[in-house]
Amino acid sequence: MKTPSTSGKRTRQTRTSPLPAVESAVTPAGTPSAEAVRVAGVACVKRLPAYLQMLRVLQGEGHEYVSGTVLATTHSLEPVVVRKDLALTGAVGTPRRGFRVAELIVAIERFVGWDNQTKAVLVGVGNLGTALLGYQGFENLGLRVAGAFDWNPAKVGRWIQGRKVQPMNQLAAFVRRGGIRLGALTVPATAAQETADLMIRAGIRGIWNFSPARLQVPEGVVTQKEDLAEGLAVLSHKLQHLPPAGGGPREHGSHALRQSAP
Ligand code: NAD
Repeated sequence: MKTPSTSGKRTRQTRTSPLPAVESAVTPAGTPSAEAVRVAGVACVKRLPAYLQMLRVLQGEGHEYVSGTVLATTHSLEPVVVRKDLALTGAVGTPRRGFRVAELIVAIERFVGWDNQTKAVLVGVGNLGTALLGYQGFENLGLRVAGAFDWNPAKVGRWIQGRKVQPMNQLAAFVRRGGIRLGALTVPATAAQETADLMIRAGIRGIWNFSPARLQVPEGVVTQKEDLAEGLAVLSHKLQHLPPAGGGPREHGSHALRQSAP
């Protein structure tokens, strides 16, 4: 069985047992405790998909174990950050070997709720909505867009990316029938709030908001706003502060799986 190492060198094995502070991270049933989820914070949760992606690659390559050091080096993070992230998922490592890749995948998926497939609806089948509907990768994240809705009569009834676009007046019945709690919102900003209100009345409890609008939602409903502009702003800022070309290579480490920190 293979175990990846950093830079091909022997690296000092980091401590892989869970940190004492998070020994209660899992409930007796093996699921993450509410406290663990609260403590984890958004930053931790945002790092987990990157670990998961790497773990799936390692699993595909036949690796049985991975060390926290390898995960840290690959993601340009301090080992202690990775150890804390993983400990919160309830994953337990083996001294000198690291984490079992398969077990870590299960622990992370369970922590973020991707172990069960979540059904979702998408409202607004325009440019972005169509692109999201066509993205196969959501299935790997435990998300299945079960229904697509739009108010435009020219789109209703058409098959787009394998889904028949349904009229808005069927949203509530569809959501209730399927017990659907998640909705992606890809309508123009001007229509975002009224559409979100409709989704909430239909039974949606989590809105993945791709519009630039800031949504007002009642208690018991959560939203997550996605904005490519944020990532672009960070990239542009980094670009402006890049050292002049020809200044020699910067030390970034040499592991083949290295990628930028999120
Ligand atoms: P689009 O005009 O191509 O698509 C919008 C779709 O929403 C259309 O099919 C339209 O018929 C439908 N729609 C409009 N009002 C509706 C309503 N009240 N109920 C149901 N359907 C309705 O626009 P787009 O380029 O796909 O962008 C969609 C949204 O995504 C916009 O808010 C845009 O600003 C945003 N966007 C966000 C990002 C990001 O980084 N998050 C990137 C691109 C676009």
